[in-house]
Amino acid sequence: MPMLGLGTWKNEDPTQCAESVRVALEMGYRHIDTAQIYGNEAAVGEGIDAAAVDREEVFLATKVWISNLTPEDVIATTEASLEKLGVDAVDLLYVHWPAGEYDPDETLPAFDELVDRGLTARVGVSNFEPHHVERAMDVLDTPVFANQVETHPFCKQSALREHAAEHGYELVGYSPLARGSVFDNDVLQDIAATHDASPAQVSLAWLAEKGVTSIPKATSEAHIRDNWESRSLELSTGEIARIDAIERHHREVNPDFGPDAWD
Ligand code: NAP
Repeated sequence: MPMLGLGTWKNEDPTQCAESVRVALEMGYRHIDTAQIYGNEAAVGEGIDAAAVDREEVFLATKVWISNLTPEDVIATTEASLEKLGVDAVDLLYVHWPAGEYDPDETLPAFDELVDRGLTARVGVSNFEPHHVERAMDVLDTPVFANQVETHPFCKQSALREHAAEHGYELVGYSPLARGSVFDNDVLQDIAATHDASPAQVSLAWLAEKGVTSIPKATSEAHIRDNWESRSLELSTGEIARIDAIERHHREVNPDFGPDAWD
């Protein structure tokens, strides 16, 4: 899985969304993140189609929404997602949250079935705390490939990063720019100035150093490029330690996530 992807939540105008995906793929991105609830799977599919990049080169992930987690709905809505995306299969299919209709014993065998039928190559989970992940691992025949959770310098997820390393799954960090809040932080601004970089790039470089895959959402070509160029930013040990020491606790999306997520 490419460690820098393009997020698409709230990239809702279909023309704009398709264009962002096309621009990102032609710039070099090879990982696109969408979800049923974003309402833009068809636009994402159009962007992939329009790009001068083969479908096989793109790591495409979508997520099954919480109201679609009965076994029948997992199957039917995933088939509908593939239809909208215009693909035969996705590379990664996530359970979006352990909520709503989620029942591990009922929901997860349907994900195994989708793997058996070749409709997804991998199974992921999202917004799962360690105990949710362990339960999913017990039930699934397929390995849990990734857990997608909010991760950035104000929500560092060190306990979950350790859990991921110990249990052999990937951590995918969503809202890696804290939905724009990284721009207001003195430490990130200061480190960015030293490198003639942006605070967005510093946050993404910090995540990469922690082994976390990032999926920043960006709409304009300028933002898509700024984030892409974070790959060449190398932070010093001292800079990483300064970011590790930021005490601001700030979570954008899931205020109920486990108590260890700040550190
Ligand atoms: P984010 O990526 O942290 O921040 C997105 C915001 O930052 C947008 O307003 C974007 O503006 C701006 N931005 C992006 N790059 C920039 C740059 N280089 N300079 C200045 N501003 C920049 O927030 P997010 O959308 O919440 O998270 C990213 C992705 O994670 C989502 O799109 C979605 O795919 C996924 N996600 C998953 C879950 C889940 O429950 N699994 C929850 C939330 C998010 P423009 O759009 O104007 O470029």
